[in-house]
Amino acid sequence: MKKCWLALVLLVLQLGVVPSLAAGAPALKVGVARIDITPQDPVQMSGYASRKDLSTGVHDPLTARALVFEINGSQLAFVTTDLIGFYGGTAEPLREAIIARTGLPPAALFLSAIHTHAGPTPTLDAEKSHANNVKYTKGLIEKLPGLVASAIENLQPATVAVGVGSSPVGANRRELRINAKSESSIVLGRNPYGPTDKEVLVLRILKEDGKPLAVAFDYATHATSLGPQNYIISGDVLGLAEQVIEKITDSGAVAAAFAGASGNIDPWYRILPGFNTEPGWTPEPVLLGTLLGQEVVHVYRKAAEPQTIDQIRTALKVIELPAKPPAAGSTEPAVDRLPYVITAARLGDQGFIGLGGEVLTEIGMAIKAGSPFRHTFVITHCNGAAGYLAPRHLFVEGGYEVQTTRFTPDAAQIVVKESLRLLHSLKPVGE
Ligand SMILES: [Zn+2]
Repeated sequence: MKKCWLALVLLVLQLGVVPSLAAGAPALKVGVARIDITPQDPVQMSGYASRKDLSTGVHDPLTARALVFEINGSQLAFVTTDLIGFYGGTAEPLREAIIARTGLPPAALFLSAIHTHAGPTPTLDAEKSHANNVKYTKGLIEKLPGLVASAIENLQPATVAVGVGSSPVGANRRELRINAKSESSIVLGRNPYGPTDKEVLVLRILKEDGKPLAVAFDYATHATSLGPQNYIISGDVLGLAEQVIEKITDSGAVAAAFAGASGNIDPWYRILPGFNTEPGWTPEPVLLGTLLGQEVVHVYRKAAEPQTIDQIRTALKVIELPAKPPAAGSTEPAVDRLPYVITAARLGDQGFIGLGGEVLTEIGMAIKAGSPFRHTFVITHCNGAAGYLAPRHLFVEGGYEVQTTRFTPDAAQIVVKESLRLLHSLKPVGE
């Protein structure tokens, strides 16, 4: 009997079959690819209205990464970019170009950004923007379809395991200030009592031979550690975390970051007033990116056994949300409703929800809490850029996100409900 088992084990090893996959389960394939998208020319930078000049240099490179999953011909593609997001209507032409080249169904494409405020402003508006930015964005439209196509060409048998960690890198930024006249206001600062989502969700993707293929992680923080005085290009906290992970895991593994629901979450430290590199001092974005990256690696190394991933399902819905009048002085048109893109996917026991805008952390936590999946990745700045979405209770307090959102207090609850409806449609109760 013992000999039989030994023979079977040897056969399994010879065939290169991953023992943890259930017999008969459809084979999961994963393909990855990575390209440099660092601007070659000085560009207008995005994220702070006060910053008017062009970038003056590069601190660390910007990258676009593609992860494509396939089971029985069904595909699911994540394209993560070290950019601020796809404002000014740039998500659609990028998505269309990727879909035209690859044949991916629209619902199977999650095109997202890590929201670095130390990167270029993507734009196709030649009248209002610098020519270098338009050239840069047209370059993305040329490059990203090839990136996804090459991930599809590289599809290979792989296993997926999931791990959960925790990180203190993100801090609630809605700080209550009370002045000498006892007048209160919410300012962009640090609020240790405000909610934060500390969860670091990690997908570990290994090749058939057990070598690393990719890591994907989801964490809720702005990538704004370099602050508004910075004119050098960087992926900031999330981009630096990706680079740390790729360096440590080596073997060419791709590390892709998703920005979780972080509309009101900033990195714990922000550089003020300059990029301090004096001996003995670790610059804040490097410090925080390393802290987050090492947590991802820690989770990656202790992640559980690979799961049996037997299905991919996807859904995409464009809903209409109630809009409030634009802020005074804004050139935006007054409308009653604005579109909002929600993308959902299932990869085995994992749920993914892509939100086309900047979402406050309470909204992401509500989606995770109501999700039917074991783990739910909330991916913001995904397939659209509708701006801030804030939960109703914060409208009483005011503050930057509430003042600048285009949506009424009712909108967030609608997004939570629609997201949960989509997730439940991909994993009905009892399945
Ligand atoms: Zn932001």
